[in-house]
Amino acid sequence: MLRRTMAEFDVKAGLQQVLKRIDEVFLQRPKEVQTGKPLLVAVSKTKPAEAVIEAYEAGQRDFGENYVQELEQKSRHPDILAKCPDIRWHFIGHMQSNKINKVLSVPNLSMIQTVDSEKLATKLDAAWSKVQPAPEQQLQVLIQINTSGEDVKSGIEAKDAPALYQFIRSNLKHLNLRGIMTIGAFGFDYSNGPNPDFVSLMQVHKSICEAHSLDPDSALVSMGMSNDFDKAIEMGSTVVRVGSSIFGHRAAKT
Ligand SMILES: *Cc1c(COP(=O)(O)O)cnc(C)c1O
Repeated sequence: MLRRTMAEFDVKAGLQQVLKRIDEVFLQRPKEVQTGKPLLVAVSKTKPAEAVIEAYEAGQRDFGENYVQELEQKSRHPDILAKCPDIRWHFIGHMQSNKINKVLSVPNLSMIQTVDSEKLATKLDAAWSKVQPAPEQQLQVLIQINTSGEDVKSGIEAKDAPALYQFIRSNLKHLNLRGIMTIGAFGFDYSNGPNPDFVSLMQVHKSICEAHSLDPDSALVSMGMSNDFDKAIEMGSTVVRVGSSIFGHRAAKT
């Protein structure tokens, strides 16, 4: 699928195609899937500020980055500050404790999608209480779950996620726990049936909703990327994180 004008990728066209596909799949998915309409987080990692501005000017507001340094730089880019006042940044990368203050000082930070331990959550809560722009303004977070059980992936094990959910809700008053996320294994072959990572995340979603008497809409489920956001939405995803389908291929990170 090549959408190139000269040397540049047409970000606006990419964005519009993704939004259209999200709508289509959302309307056609099975009736028993009861979660809300998905939010698109445009993953702009490795892409320049101009690409972010192009997507913003086409109406996109939520953007995701997974490298701390890149998020710091891009969020403070003078053109982004000037032209994208309502941008909402999502941190979707692995969070190291020693980077917490850097991430929390990002202008227009909206959500951290990768909280995966009591320790990290507690540190985030304490750090946010010192920098929060307004006293009642909680930091939105998701719990990252390692549904594929791969050692290299961060995230808490699915079986331990409900306890972490409980812990954050009862103890950390500066955090607004919005839901759960997974990255999942790459390259799943859909001819083998439903993606087990998505199945597993939806099971955690169900048990959390039951334990806290939430309706399915009140806990977000972040799953699905360029190659499988449609499959994720069919199963109940409410946050899709899409990069290359909007911004074009990324050069491999060296
Ligand atoms: C890079 C990345 C994405 C987007 O990947 P694409 O395949 O380009 O859509 C989504 N989520 C996370 C955590 C990522 O690191």
